[in-house]
Amino acid sequence: MKPKIYALLSASTPGQMGGATEIITRKCKKCRRVLEESVKQLGYEFDFWSGEDFIYMTPYYIVSERLKNELELRNLKGMDFQKIIVDTEEYFDIDEDAYSQTLPNFYYLNIKGQAKEKPIWYEIKDSGCDMCHMEIAPYKSDILDLIGEITQYKEVERVGELAKRQVYFESWQGEDIFRVDEKRRKEKRLLLLKSF
Ligand SMILES: [Zn+2]
Repeated sequence: MKPKIYALLSASTPGQMGGATEIITRKCKKCRRVLEESVKQLGYEFDFWSGEDFIYMTPYYIVSERLKNELELRNLKGMDFQKIIVDTEEYFDIDEDAYSQTLPNFYYLNIKGQAKEKPIWYEIKDSGCDMCHMEIAPYKSDILDLIGEITQYKEVERVGELAKRQVYFESWQGEDIFRVDEKRRKEKRLLLLKSF
């Protein structure tokens, strides 16, 4: 039987890319779309922390120390971790209900697995650039609206309303955690298998 797959959605965390971030990119000279990139260091600046363990900083995923430890314990394949440099905004505060009253360490979740996906959540279009001929794959607007509502209001019970995504089985290399269609899509998506 083929394994089930899960997409990870993260709730929004007030904050932004930190000043310590160092990413090397190669862009198309004409349309300026990123063709290749390599992360040297990530930084994240928190405005407020409510105890989130999983943070999405477009297009990167960041995990807390305790989530990293859990993931490592399970020997999942397809990723590694890189410590990030955390700083805080001037009026930074921690929610009194957060599991810690000091910020833990956070790590960049570097996803190495790759697979190909049927375009169900998005449409494939030509970027219209005659230099890089990159294909782009924007989300369908109804999907985007629904994801926005679910993540903004943390309505986890509504995830079932999203159309099911499908991955081409032959394109999957056996990783527990992987991205889909990374070459074509620069907005990155993440899927995780049931074995998690
Ligand atoms: Zn281009």
